[in-house]
Amino acid sequence: MHISPHLLLTAYILLMHGLTTAMWLIGGRWMGLSRRAASEWMRASIANGAALLVTVTEGGNHSSLQVMLACTLAVLGAASLRRGLLSFLRMPHTTSDFVRLIAGMAAFNLLLCAPLGWPSLGIFASCLVMVALLLKCARETHVAIAREFRPGTALASSVVLCATALVFTLTSVAVLMGQAGAQALLPPLEVRQVALVFVTAVLSIVVAFVQGYIVVMRLVNRLHHLSQHDSLTGLLNRRAIAQCLAREAHRLQRFNEPFSVLLVDIDHFKRINDLLGHAAGDEVLRQVAQTLAAQAREVDRVARYGGEEFCVLLPHTEHEGAVQAAERLRAAVHRHEITWHDETLGVTISTGVACATDPNEPMDALLRRADDALYRAKAQGRNRVEVANPLAA
Ligand code: GH3
Ligand code: MG
Ligand code: MG
Repeated sequence: MHISPHLLLTAYILLMHGLTTAMWLIGGRWMGLSRRAASEWMRASIANGAALLVTVTEGGNHSSLQVMLACTLAVLGAASLRRGLLSFLRMPHTTSDFVRLIAGMAAFNLLLCAPLGWPSLGIFASCLVMVALLLKCARETHVAIAREFRPGTALASSVVLCATALVFTLTSVAVLMGQAGAQALLPPLEVRQVALVFVTAVLSIVVAFVQGYIVVMRLVNRLHHLSQHDSLTGLLNRRAIAQCLAREAHRLQRFNEPFSVLLVDIDHFKRINDLLGHAAGDEVLRQVAQTLAAQAREVDRVARYGGEEFCVLLPHTEHEGAVQAAERLRAAVHRHEITWHDETLGVTISTGVACATDPNEPMDALLRRADDALYRAKAQGRNRVEVANPLAA
């Protein structure tokens, strides 16, 4: 049985673009992953696939209309790719610019170049527009991708976009050479067409890989953030602060670098819930959390430890510094007035301070000392700081 190269190419394009389209359909529409970007990328995949299908006609003879249709579809693909990336990165972009560009390109290619038989002009203009779109997209998105992911991810994305721009630059150069009568310097037409289809197909796969990677990485980063943060206050959660404490304990063992822990508890918090309701209690928790986070140093770690309890880790800090920090937090919370509907609430905190100086002390023993000190602060009237007894020899 003889299978023509045309049939093979058509099957390949259908399979590849069908798969990427299905990927964005399932990921975006059904799984809700970056929904708006996914629908843009789905459109890009369909447009690019259609452009390639129009390009690989049997025998390689194309009408001007066919060529211009392929060019317009390719511009739609590049513009949709850029829009998808901008919307994924939550960067500003307007639909009217996009519609104007596509409508202008379609009118130029299909209503001017095709009827007048100037496909080369249409190809050249379309290639220039795509090169401009792709380079602009690489420049616009590089910093945002590096900030959210890694510099390497931004580099990979920019390299792929620039490589695609290079392919269209070479295509426009080939068109210019053809117009200038320098065909002899170019490879035969069929070779150029197969090369174009092959290279753009490979680039489509790489682009889909980069897109899939950033979508999955955003999900992974979000899950990681959720696993480390408290949803009400946005502070670190108990699991995350336990990891920070373990790291500090290692540092103490290795470099003999002491650190301190503050256990902070809101005074008479239950009364706020009972008198004003749970929503008021939640607002108090959020505002106390903000005050603690604002007062802490950059290197300190503030976590919600339990219901209305917080844990502050002060690296590289001994007794005196820890008490000063605890007093600063206590005074700031005391000063801060919380407005709830028409009421102004004042809350206070009690704090137990424990300093880790012994590399052999287990973390739960350190926290128990801080908790005992907190208990004493409560017993001695609240709105105060108490220091834990030093570790028994
Ligand atoms: P003390 O000064 O001795 O600490 O008294 P308290 O009332 O602050 O302490 P108690 O342990 O009696 O009450 C803590 C309350 O915190 C009980 C619980 O319902 C409430 N609570 C725990 N988590 C949340 C939360 O996420 N939101 C709200 N609104 N309340 C919470
Ligand atoms: Mg409590
Ligand atoms: Mg309390």
